[in-house]
Amino acid sequence: MTARVLIVDDVPANLKLLDAKLTAEYFGVLKASSGPEAIEIATSQLPDIILLDVMMPGMDGFEVCRRLKAAPATEHIPIVMVTALDQPKDRVQGLEAGADDFLTKPVNDLALFARVKSLVRLKMVTDELRMREATGQRIGALVGTSTERMLMSEPGRALIIDDRPTSLKRMSEALSLEHTVIVAETVDEMMQLASIGAYDLLIVSLTLQEFDGLRLCSQLRSLEATRQTPLLAIVEEGDTPRLVRALDMGVNDYLVRPVDRNELVARCRTQLRRKRYQDYLRDKFQQGLELAITDSLTGLYNRRYMESHLAALVEEGVNGGKPVSLLIFDIDYFKSVNDNYGHPAGDAVLKEFAQRISQNVRGVDLACRLGGEEFVVVMPDTDLSYALMVAERLRQKVAEVPFHVEPTVSISVTVSIGIGVSEGTADCAAKLLERADAALYKAKREGRNRVVAEAA
Ligand code: GH3
Ligand code: MG
Ligand code: MG
Repeated sequence: MTARVLIVDDVPANLKLLDAKLTAEYFGVLKASSGPEAIEIATSQLPDIILLDVMMPGMDGFEVCRRLKAAPATEHIPIVMVTALDQPKDRVQGLEAGADDFLTKPVNDLALFARVKSLVRLKMVTDELRMREATGQRIGALVGTSTERMLMSEPGRALIIDDRPTSLKRMSEALSLEHTVIVAETVDEMMQLASIGAYDLLIVSLTLQEFDGLRLCSQLRSLEATRQTPLLAIVEEGDTPRLVRALDMGVNDYLVRPVDRNELVARCRTQLRRKRYQDYLRDKFQQGLELAITDSLTGLYNRRYMESHLAALVEEGVNGGKPVSLLIFDIDYFKSVNDNYGHPAGDAVLKEFAQRISQNVRGVDLACRLGGEEFVVVMPDTDLSYALMVAERLRQKVAEVPFHVEPTVSISVTVSIGIGVSEGTADCAAKLLERADAALYKAKREGRNRVVAEAA
């Protein structure tokens, strides 16, 4: 993995040392020797991660961190505070300023690379989501909404396993002030709870007596229900090898024993914020996706989606030597429905019509609204005789039962249907659609309320 790292330190020798270490590992390195310069470079170059010295003359690291996290352009860039001060108080101050992690000077190589890689990996996920989201709206504006703020400060559910009673007690007491804490007594119980419960946070001791904590972390990472859930590991001071393994397998963050309450609370808050940010973007993306492929009135697929899938379905049929049938529907004299009952009643008919169609086709069939009062159903692996039967059944479902659009209003509706079949030979989607359309035109001409198949 490679990434662009911005290192910030007022002491040239420190910059030089970090630069050498990172360059040797093939990271791209940017350098700043003061707070204002760091902000300038971060904003113009948008690095993947920032290693930020705390003690600097003028603007200190905490202030730089606060400013970068408050600016929409840079708020998503992970920041690691590099500090000579190893007081829990400083860590908490940094986390409150929005920092994602700490490294203590002199910087340990393994911890440095593991942490940089883990944070960069996380950023890639977020970047991906941000990119999908960036269809017009600026992310900063979204994140600033009050719903979003609320989401982020809501309490979460944490599941925790640690077989050291005092440590466990301290952690659950501290977390209970903000969150719901569930304690697993055994590894089996942990896995069982994790697989059924919706947890926002998992905390695992890597030094369990009865079980390999790393194995437990890896199991939680591969479990469907907890794959995306933030996972925090509790490690022994100086146990770098185990920590590196843990970070490599996707543990999101860690705490070193003895666990400091404030640091625990602050780190959990950071993880929750990140998870909710991702969930939120994912939901937004899902919504955007649905909007892009469905018709808002009827909920069926829209024309764009049908067209992009029709080609693939026809080609699959050709390759597999299977016929594909396409039905085009056009409601008869629909204009007069609008004229006689009003546009809203017309809309209600369209909705009901869409329901009758989708309830009477198979799951593999693709039902969509082409536009106006025209609909299409694409049926893979379907020959002409079966298509005729389905079309006739649908025609009857429409004609036989009037459409109740209001308690007192029921409207008789009929539909004309044209059928095209792609017979497993080289055939293109557009041609198929054209042939079905020609058949539909014939059905209209011959008196409507009927099914016509293309001339063989
Ligand atoms: P034909 O039997 O020849 O198909 O006659 P028709 O009246 O159904 O066909 P025409 O294409 O002349 O009219 C279609 C009408 O559908 C005109 C348009 O106002 C109406 N329409 C199109 N989209 C909508 C919609 O979303 N809602 C409503 N209520 N009406 C729509
Ligand atoms: Mg029409
Ligand atoms: Mg019509």
